[in-house]
Amino acid sequence: MTSTQKLNIPSDRVERLHYIKRMFPQATGEDLSNSWAGGRSQALSKLHSIDAPSYARNRNFINGAVTHLSPYLRYGCLSLNETFAAVKAKFGLVGENLLMQLAWRDFWRQVWYANGDAIFSEMEAPKVGIDYAPLNDFVKQGNTGLPCMDAFVDELLTTGYMHNHARMWFASYVVHHLKTDWRDAADWFESKLLDGDFASNHLSWQWVASTFSSKPYYFNKENLGRYTGEKYCTGCTAKCPFDTDYETLKERLFTQAPASQAKQYLITPPLTRPPSGHTAVAVYVHDEMLSATNPLLNQPFPKIFVFDPEIYQHWPLSRLQFIADSLSEMMNVEVWLGDTYEVLMQRAVGKVISQDTPNLKVKQLLSSFSTKWQPVPKLADVELSEKRLRRYSRYWEKVGPVLLATKAT
Ligand SMILES: Cc1cc2nc3c(=O)[nH]c(=O)nc-3n(C[C@H](O)[C@H](O)[C@H](O)COP(=O)(O)OP(=O)(O)OC[C@H]3O[C@@H](n4cnc5c(N)ncnc54)[C@H](O)[C@@H]3O)c2cc1C
Repeated sequence: MTSTQKLNIPSDRVERLHYIKRMFPQATGEDLSNSWAGGRSQALSKLHSIDAPSYARNRNFINGAVTHLSPYLRYGCLSLNETFAAVKAKFGLVGENLLMQLAWRDFWRQVWYANGDAIFSEMEAPKVGIDYAPLNDFVKQGNTGLPCMDAFVDELLTTGYMHNHARMWFASYVVHHLKTDWRDAADWFESKLLDGDFASNHLSWQWVASTFSSKPYYFNKENLGRYTGEKYCTGCTAKCPFDTDYETLKERLFTQAPASQAKQYLITPPLTRPPSGHTAVAVYVHDEMLSATNPLLNQPFPKIFVFDPEIYQHWPLSRLQFIADSLSEMMNVEVWLGDTYEVLMQRAVGKVISQDTPNLKVKQLLSSFSTKWQPVPKLADVELSEKRLRRYSRYWEKVGPVLLATKAT
């Protein structure tokens, strides 16, 4: 029997952040409470400050007008559909560039739904030779000797965030220059990101590696220098591995013959528990539905969130604090620490209602209960073939016109 404990998340933020530190003494990483605050009210203020015209001009630049919405979308403080609708309503087609980026999140998620845990293995055979060395400690510590890469890691570890372009450069460096196993790197990277999301993360790593794209992603010094304003290159004395043209890089990086097979990674077997045998109904609140406006919170049943070690054991402090911030705005949700099965049995629950998720780990936690999964509407109500869900361009070809036409104000 695992012990369970009902938590009393303090409404005062300073107290709350200390409380989370006490409740999760094993949690590592920086306290990011000064740079990020979780919850819907913060999410809305970020949403209202979006500058879509500037975004369209400079989003690829490291200091561009990006939104920092990703953690709020990840934890459901904002839904993707309402964010898309708000941008469309405010900016119309001037917001198209941002709308297309928001759709990437929908695309990766649909790929996750369609493929389940297969997204943690290679979706396709790599198009070039890639290697499988474990991610080295010197990379994890930001000690590569390259000021750009070390600064990216430092930003990741101290803020839980990295700009999209930096994520691409970093992943490419790790996979193609250091010949690291993309899966090992992706697991580590996801665990440090505040917006850590299996679909957006693992599938992006596969996109860079060429196991979910038609070619590997690589870049040269000129590209990095341009979009960083030479910030890291000025005064850099390192032997730069990116300082050449694309042809030379291609020859240098991709000399091996392409592997013919996609590599499969082991998936941890699910816990099996006996059926509940109880009859009470509860709404199970998981970490993709952390908004007081979530429609399931109107149901006349207890609403239960559980910090289950099966999921949260290795989470960094920042993410736990972000979740606690978000939960503190959801007055009618009971918050527990412990084993989900034990908590629900203690509350005599036999039937559960929850928001559907492609995360099979969450589904496994509820496998002993009769569960009704409430679907989350997709961005566009169109059927997508397996082929369309192989490449974003094919997805957008079908979804884009529908979205841009029907969601116009
Ligand atoms: C190697 C790698 C790993 C990544 N891991 C994650 C992850 O774990 N979680 C995550 O949310 N995103 C991930 N991304 C996608 C993207 O980098 C982030 O969503 C984005 O940088 C978040 O910052 P922002 O909110 O300021 O983005 P903005 O540029 O302001 O974009 C607005 C929103 O659109 C969505 N979006 C934009 N670009 C992408 C994209 N390429 N893929 C998916 N959604 C996108 C995000 O929800 C983002 O919040 C990863 C990308 C790469 C290359």
